[in-house]
Amino acid sequence: MNDTVSTESHPDDLIVIAGAGGFIAGHLTKYFRDKGHTRIRAVDKRPVPEWYQPVPGVECLSLDLSVPQNCERACEGAVEVYNLAADMGGMGFIEHFRVECMRSILITVHMLEAAYQAGARRYFFSSSACAYNTQLQLDPDSRALKESDAYPAMAERGYGWEKLYSEMFCQEYWAERGMKTFIARFHAVYGPFGTWDGGREKVPAAFCRKVIEAKDLGTGRIEIWGDGSRQRTFMYVDDCVRGIDRITHCDDLIATPINLGSAEPVTVDGLATLVEEIADVKLQRDYIEGPLGVGGRDSDNTMIKRVLGWEPSIPLREGMEKTYAWIEQQYVDRKAGKRTVS
Ligand code: NAD
Repeated sequence: MNDTVSTESHPDDLIVIAGAGGFIAGHLTKYFRDKGHTRIRAVDKRPVPEWYQPVPGVECLSLDLSVPQNCERACEGAVEVYNLAADMGGMGFIEHFRVECMRSILITVHMLEAAYQAGARRYFFSSSACAYNTQLQLDPDSRALKESDAYPAMAERGYGWEKLYSEMFCQEYWAERGMKTFIARFHAVYGPFGTWDGGREKVPAAFCRKVIEAKDLGTGRIEIWGDGSRQRTFMYVDDCVRGIDRITHCDDLIATPINLGSAEPVTVDGLATLVEEIADVKLQRDYIEGPLGVGGRDSDNTMIKRVLGWEPSIPLREGMEKTYAWIEQQYVDRKAGKRTVS
């Protein structure tokens, strides 16, 4: 598949993107605008001046999508709806703020109904690898997760269960009401224009910031939660937005959760080493207590390769180089008193 506007979706169709003031949906908005879509409505509860990546030429609305009437307003006239709005963050956030995470179910419930009432033809939902059975992820070298591993269900408390329940809502809107819904289970996503400080950041951004700080302040040290042995995969955001487009325009994937993640595993220590190499510095590691999440998590990409003939493939080093450079600039800008993303 190439990256031109798909034959089925017309460039003048109204696309609604929820969560567009944040990281991934901000990139998705830019992706569709660059691809030639002329009518995009971007929605987020943040005030528009605080959006991470405002995209010129796009209608921007600041609305709390946990409120039904706001969802109706957001979805008016929508042909396609992409729901990426959620109260979320890295391990430090989702392990401590389960109520906030679970309240995102309100967004799912009201956005699905509003999209259905508006007659939307396609609805995308951003699920997560946190929906998978945690018992299968106890060891750093656990086998890669395949789509059927979500059941029997034992998702991560709070955030993971909310995603699993939202997936089911999407599936029932197809089964009972005939709205085409699409569900991708993202494995950790990273890249520029994401949260890099403040408590919601994920490990790739956190490591970039910590290494930049250590260099700037000359501490020579970096703190790492746990013993560094946990294993993860990280998907660069450009792969993520391409994947969302492909999945949402593939009728073989209606109401079928599918992995969208990198299959390039790295340990926490390995990621720290990579960031040190990019920064050209070697730091003393202080392993400290902190929220850890599952032991190991990897994406089995058999299904996405079979159905789409494609999988996320941007190498971790390439993506981390771009991410590091962007966070370094953010750090410099913040020191200079300029406005930054987090
Ligand atoms: P993000 O926090 O940068 O963006 C989410 C946006 O949703 C924020 O701008 C927030 O203001 C908005 N939002 C929250 N509650 C809202 C509400 N009630 N009404 C309107 N807007 C609201 O997060 P992200 O990393 O871009 O994640 C996007 C989606 O992808 C989320 O659903 C998330 O759960 C999912 N996901 C992300 C990752 C990842 O690694 N980033 C991994 C798995 C799943």
